[in-house]
Amino acid sequence: MKYLSEFRDANSIQTVLDAIHRITVRDWQIMEICGGQTHAIMKHGLQDLLPKKITLLHGPGCPVCVTPLNMIEKAIKLASGPEVIFCSFGDMLRVPGKDRDLLSVKAEGRDIRMVYSPMDALKIAQDNPAKEVVFFAIGFETTAPATAMAVQHAKENELTNFSMLVTHVLVPPAMEAILSSPHTKIDGFLAAGHVCTVMGYEEYFPIAEKFNIPIVVTGFEPLDLVQGVYLCIKQLEEGRAEVENQYIRSVRREGNIPAQKWMKKVFKVVDRQWRGIGNIPNSGLGLRDSYLDFDAERKFYLIDEDIAEPEICISGQVLQGLKKPDECPAFGKECTPESPLGATMVSSEGACAAYYKYRRSNA
Ligand code: SF4
Repeated sequence: MKYLSEFRDANSIQTVLDAIHRITVRDWQIMEICGGQTHAIMKHGLQDLLPKKITLLHGPGCPVCVTPLNMIEKAIKLASGPEVIFCSFGDMLRVPGKDRDLLSVKAEGRDIRMVYSPMDALKIAQDNPAKEVVFFAIGFETTAPATAMAVQHAKENELTNFSMLVTHVLVPPAMEAILSSPHTKIDGFLAAGHVCTVMGYEEYFPIAEKFNIPIVVTGFEPLDLVQGVYLCIKQLEEGRAEVENQYIRSVRREGNIPAQKWMKKVFKVVDRQWRGIGNIPNSGLGLRDSYLDFDAERKFYLIDEDIAEPEICISGQVLQGLKKPDECPAFGKECTPESPLGATMVSSEGACAAYYKYRRSNA
């Protein structure tokens, strides 16, 4: 299969691994941003194939994992209303809130629907004019353009029964926040290829310069990932801190301009809470004033609650690369995918779920 089998070819991967082993002299810690990359690393056992001097850290690029608890509680509150059809991507349904998740609200008989796109939710609103339809708009720059299009369509069609619970987040401010921590251990980043497909990688140049850190835009197949590691290690060993693009088959420097225009038209940059990390300035997207009629928080007068995470859960440290999932005392005991304590275990992209699924004791 073109563009898939080539990037899983064992000989090609081994050639790059040999090159990494040849050039690695010092100890390096590299963070892959995206949960999809973390899963690919675990699934293909890539950490075990790298030199012992290289440690891969797992970043905050799992949208379900970083959606704050108070937003999940707002979603549960909205979905519990008899007049509401609540629409969400599937993996948000099992994320535990304070004492239950959206799936248990659905089991109580409320109308909660799993959708694949915000446009599906828009269609449900058009088909059910007597109901309020709310879409849970989560995710990074990858999903935000589709949310923006749905809001614009709702506005053009004067839909008054459609709104969004918006909790979109942006990657570069999170990278800056992690790098600004005095505890950070990161020497280089593998940036998320799909985010850069939308946004390009201009935004990373100031980060690479400010923190003197290599950033390599990287794809998701095993060959992509080892090439990303190779480019990053080569920079580190040569004392360079530049932005490079490994994922050239998908990413252009300027990104997807039409998608960015949609985002800019509908959203403005706002401060955003990240689960486990806290408030990060300018790290989220909120609806512009001209679209506030579609803001579910405003429409339904939702207020923020301060909700504590389970004390034992260290997912905040996992998301910042400070700890690995199997360093959590609850990992695989009190906390499993069937009975998750934190979002990094429940999400299909979460690092704890990846460790549980592909368990590697030395990963
Ligand atoms: S294993 Fe569970 S409790 Fe531990 S950090 Fe991961 S999600 Fe939290």
